[in-house]
Amino acid sequence: MSAFAGKVGLVVGVANKRSLSWAIAKGAADQGASLALTYQGERLEENVRELADGLADPLILPCDVTADAQMDSLFSEIDKKHGGLDFLVHGVAFADREDLARPFSETSREGFRLALDVSAYSLIALTRRAVPLMEKRGGGSVVTLTYLGSERVFTNYNVMGVAKAALESSVRYLASELGPKNIRVNAVSAGPIKTLAAAGISGFSSILQTYRDRAPLRRTVDASEVAEAALFLLGPAGRGVTAEVLMVDGGFHAMGV
Ligand code: NAP
Repeated sequence: MSAFAGKVGLVVGVANKRSLSWAIAKGAADQGASLALTYQGERLEENVRELADGLADPLILPCDVTADAQMDSLFSEIDKKHGGLDFLVHGVAFADREDLARPFSETSREGFRLALDVSAYSLIALTRRAVPLMEKRGGGSVVTLTYLGSERVFTNYNVMGVAKAALESSVRYLASELGPKNIRVNAVSAGPIKTLAAAGISGFSSILQTYRDRAPLRRTVDASEVAEAALFLLGPAGRGVTAEVLMVDGGFHAMGV
């Protein structure tokens, strides 16, 4: 299958082989996509370069989504190399551990600002820079990753839940504005999966167990299932879908008592 043959994608948010963004990147590359991958800070450069070893001629560039100049140069490098962009994967989130641990009402002003900047505003900042490159290709597709904590309360998810609510709302506003340019914007809302980011949520194992007990499928989902849903939204099969938050959580979101 080569749904992504001749397509160019940017994937932001690969930290290691467990990253949901990496599962999406790998899936797109296996189906023919050329990729640009980013790393945040030198700490993760080697990880990303090692992972990308098996990809065909990837672009690997630094990108801290709080640094405008880095984002500018990222997109100008992609434009220089490929002359356009077909899809963007946004898999970035961050909140201060302290703000995830203390009572929500004690969220600090700076912690709130940081979580929303990195986890929600970054979608707007990256998409804005992707638009001119996608227009060169006659359109494009953007997918971000979110969690049900945007609309329900999960213990210790705290300010990240607020950031995910802002992220999902941003998906709808971006989709509305960019639809006339044939640019689609969607989110995949993944069930809990053990990754580096998930390690910051205390009590994560008990959340996993709750999903096993209560989700209609009576199990958690894995990164490959999230990736396949993202690839559907990114690729030609999803061409009629925009402004959507697609739940990939074994059905957990539908359950009441
Ligand atoms: P992950 O592997 O830790 O990925 C998160 C990525 O965000 C990391 O690469 C991280 O880099 C990056 N990041 C943080 N701050 C950044 C910044 N300022 N600039 C650029 N990148 C930055 O964890 P993941 O679980 O795959 O998370 C990917 C996305 O899926 C997140 O939006 C997360 O909320 C979402 N999600 C995860 C789950 C889950 O259970 N795992 C469920 C639903 C949704 P650093 O390591 O350097 O901080």
